[in-house]
Amino acid sequence: MRSLYIHVPFCFHKCHYCDFYSIVDTRDRQEPFVERLAAELSAQSHLSGGAPLRTIFVGGGTPSLLRPDLWTRLLGVLEARFDLSLIRRGVGEFTVECNPETVTRELADTLATGGVTRVSMGAQSFHAAHLKTLERWHHPDNVARAIEVAGGAGISRRSVDLIYAIPGQSIADLERDLDAAASLPVEHVSAYNLTYEPNTAMTHRLKRGEFTPADEDLEADMFTLVGERLGARGFSRYEVSNYARPGAECRHNLAYWRQEQWLACGPSASGHARGIRWKNAPRLDDYLSYSDEGWARASEVEPRDARRAVRERIMTGLRLREGLPIDWLRSRACEHGGDTESRVQRAIDRMDEQGLLRERDPAIVLTDAGVLIADALAARLMKMFL
Ligand code: SF4
Repeated sequence: MRSLYIHVPFCFHKCHYCDFYSIVDTRDRQEPFVERLAAELSAQSHLSGGAPLRTIFVGGGTPSLLRPDLWTRLLGVLEARFDLSLIRRGVGEFTVECNPETVTRELADTLATGGVTRVSMGAQSFHAAHLKTLERWHHPDNVARAIEVAGGAGISRRSVDLIYAIPGQSIADLERDLDAAASLPVEHVSAYNLTYEPNTAMTHRLKRGEFTPADEDLEADMFTLVGERLGARGFSRYEVSNYARPGAECRHNLAYWRQEQWLACGPSASGHARGIRWKNAPRLDDYLSYSDEGWARASEVEPRDARRAVRERIMTGLRLREGLPIDWLRSRACEHGGDTESRVQRAIDRMDEQGLLRERDPAIVLTDAGVLIADALAARLMKMFL
């Protein structure tokens, strides 16, 4: 267990597209939350076996909403309970997600002093009108300011998140967003198409006919534009929706996509250890009121399942530029038995003929055309491991 995810559930407003667990911050529960989190971190720290952590990612929610004094407390617990030597030496990575509106010099100094090496800034768009469509509350000008403040505090690794295919967004609008993001002193850009998750306000508005969503062709054109425009500015795609300057890939997310193991603390946090997946119960009140020697109540536990593990590795591995190791896939197909190995090979050959995938020893890697339908291609292989 060399990675740790922490979920901070507070936001100052619920964005309409968001289906992450978060609640509007009333400030009165930040302190009990951090104390409860400290207990859970202590309990889970034993699973790391004293080995140095390679990556920490604090997401949410809006972690940058936590008061600086509570950040000091949280960072102190991490220092006391885990070996952060790799992170301190810059070999590891410690990311905190930030809303640009909340980044102050005091907060940035606190994070940097406590070992944070990377911030992920939620920009989403640099057009106020599109932020309004998303009901995202921050001023576009604050993104550059927040990135500067983080850099001034010594946090040199910085990323911005964008959303595209926003209703009403044109290709020209997206070009301006991409140029604005790439002009910032950042090493990494995440660009996700807007998705309509069940039970979000955005989906309810869509069902009420309040706007017209981007059509599939426009979305595909935008996806291509993202790759080309960021590519021209030195950011290359290393995962379907993630772009980095050389060597600046998000190591924590790579651990997820490579299906490594990670600890997870906080309400709704999902972890993966020794083949078992679990998700903490999401409600903050439950999280605060329940503790089994520090452990949180899990709302979902999936026991070790070799076939599920293969399917998950296919799903996330195919999305990576490094691809899926071909020897690993053949071995899993062989273990699966029957004619799985030949069926998998036929599927790969077919995708190769269709120009969707290339077999490049030691991996199979999607082509640009394949990346557009990565999930569908993964599904073709995954169904052979049911
Ligand atoms: S700030 Fe992030 S976590 Fe909070 S509501 Fe918006 S998208 Fe969701």
